[in-house]
Amino acid sequence: MSKESFPEVTALKGVGPKVAERLQRIQIYTVQDLLFHLPIRYQDRTRIRPVAALRAGEECVVIGNIEHSEVVFRKRRMLLVSVDDGTGRVLLRFFYFNKTQRENLSRGSKIRCFGEIRQGIKGPEMVHPEYELLHQDEPAKVEDHLTPIYATTEGLHQLSLRRLTSQALQWISKNNAPQLDLLPTPPFIDGQTVCIVEALKFVHRPPPEADTEALAAGKHAMQRRLSFEELLAQQLSLSKLRLQMQKQPAIPIQANGQLYKKLLDGLKFDLTQAQQRVIQTVFSDLGNDSPMLRLVQGDVGSGKTLIAIAACLQVIEAGYQAVVMAPTEILAEQHLRNFSQWLEPLGVRLAWLSGKLTASKANEMKALIDTGTANAIVGTHALFQQGVEFKNLALVVIDEQHRFGVHQRLALREKGIQDGMHPHQLIMTATPIPRTLAMTAYADLDYSVIDELPPGRKPISTIAIPMERRQEVVDRVANACRNGQQAYWVCTLVEESEALQCQAAEDVFRELSQLLKGVKVGLVHGRMKGKEKDSVMQDFSAKKIDLLIATTVIEVGVDVPNASLMIIENAERLGLAQLHQLRGRVGRGTEESSCVLVFDPPLTDNAKTRIDTMRNTNDGFKIAQVDLEIRGPGEVLGTRQTGMLQLRIANIMRDQDLIPLVQETAKQLLEEYPHNVDAVIQRWLGKSIEFGQV
Ligand code: ADP
Ligand code: MG
Repeated sequence: MSKESFPEVTALKGVGPKVAERLQRIQIYTVQDLLFHLPIRYQDRTRIRPVAALRAGEECVVIGNIEHSEVVFRKRRMLLVSVDDGTGRVLLRFFYFNKTQRENLSRGSKIRCFGEIRQGIKGPEMVHPEYELLHQDEPAKVEDHLTPIYATTEGLHQLSLRRLTSQALQWISKNNAPQLDLLPTPPFIDGQTVCIVEALKFVHRPPPEADTEALAAGKHAMQRRLSFEELLAQQLSLSKLRLQMQKQPAIPIQANGQLYKKLLDGLKFDLTQAQQRVIQTVFSDLGNDSPMLRLVQGDVGSGKTLIAIAACLQVIEAGYQAVVMAPTEILAEQHLRNFSQWLEPLGVRLAWLSGKLTASKANEMKALIDTGTANAIVGTHALFQQGVEFKNLALVVIDEQHRFGVHQRLALREKGIQDGMHPHQLIMTATPIPRTLAMTAYADLDYSVIDELPPGRKPISTIAIPMERRQEVVDRVANACRNGQQAYWVCTLVEESEALQCQAAEDVFRELSQLLKGVKVGLVHGRMKGKEKDSVMQDFSAKKIDLLIATTVIEVGVDVPNASLMIIENAERLGLAQLHQLRGRVGRGTEESSCVLVFDPPLTDNAKTRIDTMRNTNDGFKIAQVDLEIRGPGEVLGTRQTGMLQLRIANIMRDQDLIPLVQETAKQLLEEYPHNVDAVIQRWLGKSIEFGQV
């Protein structure tokens, strides 16, 4: 069942070097690649539609007689052709046309046209339809299957792809192609078993009676059969990665938890049940001689930092080093402060690395790390980019990993290797996603959830206020601050430009400093020096600042429990995950907290959904669910750029119900048919599986 048993595309008619090169651009090398190059949608040219029944948006074939034709000058010159089929009239609009076309498209001709229907002022219209003139008595010929539309590349036309896929389908029929079936038995889905050949034939050339609505939604049984196999390929590839990792050696951490106990003695509160449970799991992972690969999910404020600290302490007690990486400078600085506060009393020595240190300072830190003087190292991803040598690294903690993305996660695994030993890895994320989705997207990881918030957290009440009532918001902030509360005011911008966002924050800082007499206003943004930022954050923590104007740099992880009011200006510009993270900066103390989303109307539908969702719930899980629906899993999980979860036909949200069967089948294949595993992966993931070898 090797790949060689599929002919190269060059064996097909019409594929010379030029076409072969174009096919390569879309990763098509063999007949099998062609078969798995699936249509992205369909057109229906199998039926002639009566004009009277046409609906806007539908793509269809209409046949009729030209009743009227004229060239008009509106905003631009155009040819209007009115076609009547006996049930009604459709107007064809052409902006580009030559003399012959104009002459042919004249009253009395019979025409067949195909295009998308738009609702015009006087009735249905088609703009630049494909058309063909017919003889008056010519029978109305139609296609005998739905027309597949394929993803393509420059110079490769739909018609060529159709001819090539037809040849590939003929090749199956001729060769009977047993090598296409890689599963022990066809899967039982939606009450039927479908073999792969049947599914491929159908999906490339659906018969006229096929359920077009199901096809458009990707829910047809034949598509589901293929989606199933694609999810299976995804699962297999991550499972293999995980098995490979499990075979790697790691340092088993032997410690009896002395440092951890000391930490607990110093805490002013008890750990939640969920925190305790996750910490015990992590300790048990650390004791293994294969690397821990654990993802810990916990909503904003669930207390993930302590999980990281506990893990570090265990490793340090055993005599090794631990690294904690954060996605932003400001969060890394915050961790450094937290870690010093908790760890230094226990005698742990810290080092700190960020991209912004001076060369001499960085060298000083590197020496601490290299000699093993520092036990715990906190920093941004600069940590792995600056040729840092560790004395004996045994644990890498990655916080708020949704900012990192899968690719970096995989790269880190490689970079942390020392003397053949792989460090244990603990990944923490505040993006709560449904369990089935997590099990698929993170199938290379073990997975724990902190499903409990520390006691006494009060829900944050959230309101939305249009920009024209901004003054009310300013008054509210003034009152709150004068009553001893602390507040954040977050400025956002559409552009990704950090410079402009900082500018906006500076403007608001100046404005509110002037307006709010007696209120101490501070400013923090991404362009400030690390030290400056740090000192502002410390002043805010120490209540020397009442109102902190900030850019979204404070989005992740910043923790000042006394702050109880969050204003987000132009909240319509932010995504749900960001809004939830920002709001999570308040509601951490004993005070009743609130969040005001200031928006600039009119809102798009999505922006309205986002703001309504924020008003209606504090539950990170529900928010993530809506976010997944709006943006799709690729965006939410940060996997879009990495090729992972970039699926051809499956959709992880839509096809979630297939996942249990996918997992069962993956297990069976790995155990009983290991020789088919690579073939399944290769067929669906092709070149992109190389992401595993970064
Ligand atoms: P996140 O999960 O968002 O990273 P943090 O680790 O920053 O949350 O914790 C948020 C706040 O809750 C911090 O001030 C932390 O000290 C506090 N905290 C953590 N665990 C508990 C607990 N069990 N009881 C009370 N407060 C806690
Ligand atoms: Mg955190």
